[in-house]
Amino acid sequence: MAAFYASGHGRRVTVIERNEKAGKKIYITGKGRCNLTNLRPVPEFLDHVVTNPRFLYKALYAFTPEDTIAFFEANGCPLKVERGERVFPVSDHASDVTRALFDAAKKSGVNFIFNERIKSVVTNEGGVTGVLLESGRRIDADAVILATGGRSYPSTGSTGDGYEIAKKLGHSVKDQQPSLVSMHVGWEYCRELEGLSLKNVGLSLLDGNKKLFADRGEMLFTHFGVSGPLVLSASARYNESMKNAVLKLDLKPALSHDELMSRLLRDFDKYRNKVFRNSLDDLFPKRLAPVMARLSGIDPAKRAGEVSKEERSRFAQLIKGVNMTVTGTGGFAEAVITRGGIDVKEIDPATMGSRLVRGLYFAGEVIDVDALTGGYNLQIAWSTGRLAGLSAAKDI
Ligand SMILES: Cc1cc2nc3c(=O)[nH]c(=O)nc-3n(C[C@H](O)[C@H](O)[C@H](O)COP(=O)(O)OP(=O)(O)OC[C@H]3O[C@@H](n4cnc5c(N)ncnc54)[C@H](O)[C@@H]3O)c2cc1C
Repeated sequence: MAAFYASGHGRRVTVIERNEKAGKKIYITGKGRCNLTNLRPVPEFLDHVVTNPRFLYKALYAFTPEDTIAFFEANGCPLKVERGERVFPVSDHASDVTRALFDAAKKSGVNFIFNERIKSVVTNEGGVTGVLLESGRRIDADAVILATGGRSYPSTGSTGDGYEIAKKLGHSVKDQQPSLVSMHVGWEYCRELEGLSLKNVGLSLLDGNKKLFADRGEMLFTHFGVSGPLVLSASARYNESMKNAVLKLDLKPALSHDELMSRLLRDFDKYRNKVFRNSLDDLFPKRLAPVMARLSGIDPAKRAGEVSKEERSRFAQLIKGVNMTVTGTGGFAEAVITRGGIDVKEIDPATMGSRLVRGLYFAGEVIDVDALTGGYNLQIAWSTGRLAGLSAAKDI
């Protein structure tokens, strides 16, 4: 996107890509369907940006989700809007998004060099003069746009090179953390429940007494912990330096404690002659019921009709707050995005230009911005890419 907007009017624009083809990560976005933007109005859009939403204000208003849609449709990729204002190609093929971008850039005269990795940006007297490639080749340039992505899914080519390149030029880089990623928890039942998916549950993330996240939705148990949409969103608020982070699972978020007490009374009465551990099938999925029975501390052989009010109250409390200590995340290998990156204080939000090095621009995930799932991260890449491209073109 940056290359496309930098091109035209006789300017010579070159994309240097270490992979054998362009936009490799796009192929795996949105489970292969590419959720390329989100049609929520910009203020609401910005509510879904976790880090530095204000920095994106100008870039996003100058190139909105509507503009993204117009761009791709004009370039041969018809789009559709799905639940939650998420936008996908009508074909459900992420490859159509890559093709539209690549073809637009090619038609506009952009030159592509593949299988070459940038080692550093060359400067002279505070301004860029070109780039040095790992192969030893040097390419002269009046402007350079660094759009090397983050550190997540390194198999797609994003291995964090941009951070090192920018550091060498004097830029400050915020520590990186995997985000939108599965979480590991110290809860002994995960393995037993591996693969079990829970719908309409509540999940909060707490660091000590501080509530960092709370929402309802879907999650699933994995070998090491938990994953699924709710967990990915929670991970955006988690930081590996947190020592007391806990995920609190509410299995009946639609019921208050008192409502749940009545529900339990009804169920225990209905199954009064069954043993307690066999009376929970209406309450929980089949695999979860025995785990909850064990966690309750109630004698499993007791008849359901004999469970005391106090036991019922403790059980209701447990159902509304299963605590799982967070021990880490699935890491960069499986994180959807990287939190952290080039410090936005050193980038002009009106141009995406470096405040330290003349002719240097930034676009996309390499910048210290990140958002939740729903098409926001790619829209950030499109908007900052376009702005960086147009601004860099002025230097040429
Ligand atoms: C599994 C998965 C699913 C996702 N799904 C969605 C989704 O549906 N919607 C959404 O909005 N976002 C999604 N994202 C996030 C989104 O893909 C990224 O935020 C976005 O691709 C960032 O774009 P970028 O251009 O900044 O970086 P990237 O797409 O990472 O591109 C950076 C490019 O730079 C190249 N490069 C890096 N270093 C060098 C170097 N030294 N020399 C030469 N080339 C280099 C890389 O090879 C790569 O091609 C998903 C991410 C993942 C991993």
